Amino acid sequence: MKFSKLVLGAGSLLAAAALTACGATAEPAPTKKAAAEKAAEPAATGTFVVTYEDATTEDNQAVQQLMQENKVLENVAEYATDLLKLDKDVPVIAKECGVMNAFWDPQTLSITMCYELTGHFNTLFTEAEYENATDQALAATNSVFFHELGHGAITLYDLPVTGKEEDAVDQLSALILTGAEQPDMVVTSADAWGLMSNTEELDEAAFADEHSLGAQRYYNLLCYVYGSDTKSYESLVTDEYLPQARAERCEDEYTKMSNAWSKLLQPHLKA
Ligand SMILES: [Zn+2]
Repeated sequence: MKFSKLVLGAGSLLAAAALTACGATAEPAPTKKAAAEKAAEPAATGTFVVTYEDATTEDNQAVQQLMQENKVLENVAEYATDLLKLDKDVPVIAKECGVMNAFWDPQTLSITMCYELTGHFNTLFTEAEYENATDQALAATNSVFFHELGHGAITLYDLPVTGKEEDAVDQLSALILTGAEQPDMVVTSADAWGLMSNTEELDEAAFADEHSLGAQRYYNLLCYVYGSDTKSYESLVTDEYLPQARAERCEDEYTKMSNAWSKLLQPHLKA
């Protein structure tokens, strides 16, 4: 499959609106007072603003070119802008970081996507002999963007989180992608964590980390995809990627996390 088919476009917005409907309760008809209060709210004119900083190494330059040519961050930023009310712009910066990472910065209120991370995904999928390794790397990059967007939403809207925030925002990323009819991107992201877990050292640092272990993220993401549509993704269980004991709970897990995120984000959604 060509990446162009996986690109999030305007057509997926309706699906995202469906996500928000899951946890929404019927709103009472607005009174005059409510209408006046609404008018006093700051205008949600902020957007996610993408910048690609020039890479200096050959490897990172290749990733920069790949991301720019495919408008990877432009597409997800447009999607996020259409989804969320922002009272000011939020920078989305692609750059050479010197580390293989991506992060939300609560001080500068910006998302950084490092070329090294997409490059690493590309290496992982290439070495594992995936078809279209580059497309898979970009799909996994999309998934990471929505993970960072989750951290951003928690800061920007002062949302409560119970449990591990890293798991909660993995859930939001999976919800957005399945809601936008891009569940394969979640499977790709699961595979990236699965491949990374092959070389993950299970030492004290790994167990103490704020992130779940790579293997746990792999099974969680597969569970979310399966839970989003047990019929279409039955093969994840029958082909023994997802153990039956976990699979039994996935539809309920998906519904619960969808309800939770929908309720939390409801006041901040444009649709
Ligand atoms: Zn995170």
